[in-house]
Parts: sequence; structure tokens; C-alpha cells
Amino acid sequence: MKKTFVTLPQLQEMTQTYPTPFHLYDEAGIRRTARQLRDAFSWNPGFREYFAVKATPTPAILKILRQEGCGADCSSLTELMLSDKCGFSGEEIMFSSNETPAEEYVLADQLGAIINLDDFTHIDFLQETLGRIPETISCRFNPGGVFQLGESEEGFQVMDTPGDSKYGFTREQLFEGFRKLKALGAKRFGIHAFLASNTISNDYYPALAGILFRLAADLERETGCDVCFINLSGGVGIPYRPDQPANDIAAIGEGVRRQFEEILVPAGMGDVAIYTELGRYMLGPNGCLVTRVLHFKHTYKEYVGVDACAANLMRPAMYGAYHHITVMGKENAPCDHKYDVVGSLCENNDKFAVDRMLPEIERGDLLVLHDTGAHGFSMGYNYNGKLRSAEVLLREDGSTKLIRRAETPEDYFSTMLFD
Ligand SMILES: *Cc1c(COP(=O)(O)O)cnc(C)c1O
Repeated sequence: MKKTFVTLPQLQEMTQTYPTPFHLYDEAGIRRTARQLRDAFSWNPGFREYFAVKATPTPAILKILRQEGCGADCSSLTELMLSDKCGFSGEEIMFSSNETPAEEYVLADQLGAIINLDDFTHIDFLQETLGRIPETISCRFNPGGVFQLGESEEGFQVMDTPGDSKYGFTREQLFEGFRKLKALGAKRFGIHAFLASNTISNDYYPALAGILFRLAADLERETGCDVCFINLSGGVGIPYRPDQPANDIAAIGEGVRRQFEEILVPAGMGDVAIYTELGRYMLGPNGCLVTRVLHFKHTYKEYVGVDACAANLMRPAMYGAYHHITVMGKENAPCDHKYDVVGSLCENNDKFAVDRMLPEIERGDLLVLHDTGAHGFSMGYNYNGKLRSAEVLLREDGSTKLIRRAETPEDYFSTMLFD
């Protein structure tokens, strides 16, 4: 059974202050997750997690992560500005963008961020934009084809198709790119790859590490470039469904260490730093969406209408993603009712759950949608004139803090020009 990190009495008190819907984050859980990740990679002195800002671009969250030693992984102008405002500086910022506008490279360079190039043509673009190439530079690799792991009777444990993804250099472009960057003045090199998303497997990072470590050794040998860091990027997943096992981050760190000892150490590259850019793994389970039941509708199906909608949490509408739902106060009641739990958008995909077995729901019940801490609030939008909700932090001492106020109609109208 999936447990909430908040109790019904706590939520009842919160809803006196913060109207539903709102996103709630668990500070204790965030710190615990960051420490477990750091411990798992403590064998690598240069290790750093660059939190993927797009997953949860909220100052209070970014500051907690910074206190835990994380950097920030940005992919846009405003994410760079946000990271700067939250105190990240210099190489604490990774800039992994694609189809990048010139002004974003300029700001990344001013902040001293590590620039992770997505494409071979961006070498010239960066040179033209900055008038030089930074001494530290990273390139994103795309091996093409299909990436598969862990074949069993049910199929592959992890499967994705890098060959269809728009990101990264081909292997040949990477070798040529490193030579070119070196000739233009780059001195410290990194490589990066993101081959599969939301993996539930302790083998994804070690398998990716194996690919990147071999590539790094080849690159250093053939181009003479000094590979200083290898960025395993994001993709370590979380169990959204109650029957899925959780990843074991200690086992993942150990798996990467074995590849490191096997490949990089014999190549004389034992001083390479390992970087990660996890978003979902860091924050997903440490956030939830709190919503209240407003209406029931009995037609061809049984609908439960709530005050949150896809504008607050897009994943179910966009990907058909599963988010577990707890009916607060009825945790131990039998799940003997079948419901579609829906929001109010004029879009028939605005359904948080379809044919979900839940306890009998009453009007006014508080529902917790689990695992919305990453790619939840941040994917929100204003369709149908819906306003973005507040974000609230549940602090370690049990108190709460408003960390983003809800949008008001004034915010909504503020960009409109009436004459
Ligand atoms: C989205 C993204 C991440 C984070 O991915 P998760 O699935 O949240 O771990 C990391 N790096 C880059 C470049 C990304 O685009």
C-alpha cells in the first residue's frame, strides 16, 4: 500500500489556510533522498547531483537541494535566472539545452555555468555567440538505435529508442567535435547522455555508465582531450504504481562504481567526476497534489469531480500516466467502488484516474494524488483560464510554509492587452 507523507488532521489544518487544490512537498523526504543519493556515490570524490530544475522550479525546493550539496541543471533562460537567484553559481550550474537561443548561451557563460552542447553545429554557434569557446565544455551523446535492458518473459525491463530522439551528437560527431573544441581552446571535457526515462531498474545507470565510460576512454585516447566528468543525466525512475518495486539507489551507485573500476581506472581515468541530473527520483515521491471532491456524476460511468484539473497535473492527460490516489481518512476502507476521477477542463482527457477502484467517496473528501513532486506543478498551464495553484512545504518540524502563492485573476490578466 502506498502511504502519504501527510495525515488527514494535518491536511484538515492546512486547508483552513490554503485553499485546495495545492501541491505539497515533504522537506524531510527531499533531504533524505538527497543524502541517500550522495551516500550512494560517495566513492567518487567529484560526484555532484545537478537537480533538473524543470522538474520543480520552486525557490524553496532549490534552496533545500543546494543546502544538500546539489547543483542545478537548467535548460532555458528563466531556469538559469532562477538558479542564479537561488544562489547557485559557476560550475554549480549545468546548462543542458537544445535548439538554444544565443542569449541563453550568453547568460550561461556569464554565470560560469558548464555548457552541455546538444549538437555539433552548436560548436560554431557558441564560438560565434561568445567569441570564444569556454575552457570547460560538455557534449551530449546519442548512440542511436534502441536501448534495451533486462529481457524477461514480460519483455524488456527498460526500453527506449534514442534513434528517434532529437538530442545529442552521433559517435562520429562527438570525436570530431572534441577535436574541434580542443582546437578552439577547450581544456576540460565532459560527456552526457539520457537514454531512457523513468526507469525502474537498478541496472539503467550502470549500463549507461558502461557505455559512457568506454566512450570516454576512446575519446581521450584518440583525441587527446581531457575528459574530466561524465554526466549520467536523469532517468532513474520512481514506482508510481503500488505494485512496482522502488529503485535501490545504493545498489545503483555500487553498479556504477563497478563499471568505473572496470573501465575508467585501468584507462588511467580514475579521477573522472560522476554527475547526475535527476529530477523525478529526487522530488517525485516527495510531493503530492491535494484536491477536494466537489461533485458526483452518474451517467454511463461513475464520475468524481475534483477541484484540481490537468492544468495542475498534466501527466495523466498527456501520457496516460498513473498517479496513485488516497482518499484521506479512508486508507483502510475496502476499495470496492469504481470511479473516474476527473477535473473540470473542457477536454475529455482531463481524468486523473479511469476505472480506479477506491473506497466509497463522499463530497468534501480530500484526495491525495501521489508522486507529483516532479513534473507536476511545473508542467502546469493556463488552459481554460485555469490558475496555477499554490505550493506548500511541509517542514521537518511538522509546520507548513507557503512557498508559492496561487495565481490570481490579476496574474491571468496581467499579460493581456485590451486596447
Ligand atoms: C528532464 C531532464 C532531466 C531529468 O529527468 P528525470 O526523468 O526527471 O530524472 C535531466 N537532464 C535533462 C537534460 C533533462 O532534459
